[in-house]
Amino acid sequence: MSRSSETGAGEIAWDVGAIFESVLRQVDRRRGPVPQVDVQFRPFAGMNHRARLRQGVLSVRLSDLLQGADARVIEALAMILVAKLYRRTPPAAAQLRYRRYVMSRGVEQRIIETKRSRGRKTITDPRGHAYDLTEMFAEINTRLFDNAIPATKLSWSARPSRLRLGHYDIAHHAIVINRLLDRQEVPRVAVEFILYHEMLHVKHPVESSGGRRRIHPPAFRAEEKRFPRYAEARAALRKLALTADVD
Ligand SMILES: [Zn+2]
Repeated sequence: MSRSSETGAGEIAWDVGAIFESVLRQVDRRRGPVPQVDVQFRPFAGMNHRARLRQGVLSVRLSDLLQGADARVIEALAMILVAKLYRRTPPAAAQLRYRRYVMSRGVEQRIIETKRSRGRKTITDPRGHAYDLTEMFAEINTRLFDNAIPATKLSWSARPSRLRLGHYDIAHHAIVINRLLDRQEVPRVAVEFILYHEMLHVKHPVESSGGRRRIHPPAFRAEEKRFPRYAEARAALRKLALTADVD
């Protein structure tokens, strides 16, 4: 039995429910009834989905960005979500098929546009306590990029993070640098290097082919090493003992 809710996707949701039910049957081999399935599409900020199994009901909330995806993509996603619920590794073929879909032209663009319009982005003052990102960006742009990097929103992260030193958010065309680096005891060269890395992301778009995605293609890595005080910057970051990564 599958149940679907009216979320403006009536017929599709019914089919999707049936797909989840059939995947559940393959994965959950216990005898007896498989859980009821309740699928709804939601206007999440990105291509996010949630699945929860509670009291005999599998409730699935799928990003409405999936509407229009063909049944095999939905089936692959169902395999991934159901496998995770049962703490199993999703089949590699399903992961590949889903990734290919998400990375396909058009879909990827729609995800970016949706993040831009629905997602919230906290942009704080780029002038920090120790370092001014606006001034640093202009200086690096002139010195190392011949001013070729277009104006980009700059921000210190709203909160310090143990996970990443910085990131470039393509949807909001914003570079966000970890607030932990905005301290006098952090050498300027370390902050400059992180900012330089993120500026390289503005310059080098993510490459994707055959379901794989290269966030740091070889040309990116080669140029990263041309940072004038590369070894010194890396050593300074190591010394800060930040376990965080750059992405
Ligand atoms: Zn990176």
